[in-house]
Amino acid sequence: MTNLVENINFPRYTTQQVIDGLGLELVTVDQMTTEESKEEQRTEPPTTFIPAYTYTGQATGEIIDLRKWAAQNPDFDIVMNINVKYTMGPFVEGKQHIVCPFADEHTDTSPDLATFIVNATLPDHASFNIHCMHDHCANRDRLEFLQAMFEKRWLPAAELIPAPLELRKPLWVTLQVKEISASLEWSILTPDERRIAWDLQYYAWQTDDGTFENNEWRIAKFLGLPVEQWLEYCKTLTKAGWLKEWNGRLTNDIVKREFDNAQMAYSKSCAGGKKGGLKTQQNRRR
Ligand SMILES: [Zn+2]
Repeated sequence: MTNLVENINFPRYTTQQVIDGLGLELVTVDQMTTEESKEEQRTEPPTTFIPAYTYTGQATGEIIDLRKWAAQNPDFDIVMNINVKYTMGPFVEGKQHIVCPFADEHTDTSPDLATFIVNATLPDHASFNIHCMHDHCANRDRLEFLQAMFEKRWLPAAELIPAPLELRKPLWVTLQVKEISASLEWSILTPDERRIAWDLQYYAWQTDDGTFENNEWRIAKFLGLPVEQWLEYCKTLTKAGWLKEWNGRLTNDIVKREFDNAQMAYSKSCAGGKKGGLKTQQNRRR
């Protein structure tokens, strides 16, 4: 087992500073699923996991996972963003009635007030929502509405374009590929658990210290999972030795170590590369 020791003798930098400063190359989860030639992986489209609800950018062809996007953007102002042409009546008590994007599937297709959108308003709505009371729509996931609304351009696709770092799809740093695929904690995970683990390590990197708060609600939100499902994964990943507690927060040994190494390397490159630890790092990279 690796012991995690907090390193306090070098200045802290943000993840973005480290990535930019070291010129680290970021790769997506899909590019890292096998150990084959990296060249090959880069040119192949992702084939391992196609999310249920997606939007494909018309200019770039980029596929945006709407589940993840919605989980990361609970504050999306859907009421402000919907094309006013498809709204019905005024905005009342937090609700805006709209035309249902699936109205042509309703038994009675004439316009009515059965469909509405709401923005996140605590404590009732932790996230924006879309709802239609017609039988054909009652069981639809809000993401299905969201997908239809982006595809029909009732909502502007520009809202889906990621802002710097924190809203990007899961990213990882190339230098970790070998160590990660060689490590026992990763190799025993099922594909589903691996996917969760990838997202978690990305989450850990976002916090600028390589760990994340043990807050089940927030973690579930980030992963786009119900809390109970996250707790199940949490149990499994802990049992597998992948997930560790660290100063009351959560992380993974390799994730934390690599995060600190990257911080350290960047710190040294800023300071002109003075004393200690560098040799160890070079050996480790070999
Ligand atoms: Zn409907």
